[in-house]
Amino acid sequence: MMQIVRGKSGWVEVICGPMFSGKSEELIRRIRRAEIARQRVQIFKHAFDARYDSDSIVSHSRQSLPSVSISKPSDILERTADRTELVAVDEAQFFDAELVDVCSRLADQGKRVVVAGLDLDYRGQPFGPMPLMMCRAEYVTKQLAICVTCGDPAGFTQRLTRSRDQIQVGATGMYEARCRHHFEVPEETDLDDPETTRTASG
Ligand code: ADP
Repeated sequence: MMQIVRGKSGWVEVICGPMFSGKSEELIRRIRRAEIARQRVQIFKHAFDARYDSDSIVSHSRQSLPSVSISKPSDILERTADRTELVAVDEAQFFDAELVDVCSRLADQGKRVVVAGLDLDYRGQPFGPMPLMMCRAEYVTKQLAICVTCGDPAGFTQRLTRSRDQIQVGATGMYEARCRHHFEVPEETDLDDPETTRTASG
């Protein structure tokens, strides 16, 4: 749909949802199609995400594409070539709000910008720049995973460890996809006292 009409202006696409919802797969799919169309693509991700490989975006289903790790949104502007047609950003939730302006500027330059990231953190709260990104984007795709407890569509990411940091990079074993019924918000009292923190793994 979004590829049919091509004028002079660029635009921003957001792919969001919980962990395991296929955000990286969908980002990789859109990038591969652009490459088939012989468009010039640059791929960035936050330097925090060292899941499998610091120089690739990697899905949980092990698809991957080479990427450049950066720590701040202005790095994207500095590193994007004039002739680049598609700028892809993975793990967008880790960046600060400057990401929104950077993506808008790239779109103003006529580029297609595709941003993938978690919309909610492990407490079920909006994550970093994602709410603003979603408001400013022309296209927003919210994906759902499968709840590991009941098999329903899952919009939440359950953290299985007791860490209270909003950012704790990891995947299998540390996080699970859960539906709204099975998602448990960490209780503040638990968070204040690590000794009483319950983990979903027992
Ligand atoms: P995200 O980037 O949103 O974390 P990925 O694209 O990396 O998602 O991974 C999606 C893949 O994860 C699915 O295609 C599937 O193979 C696998 N997967 C593992 N657990 C789940 C789950 N609970 N629900 C859906 N997919 C899952």
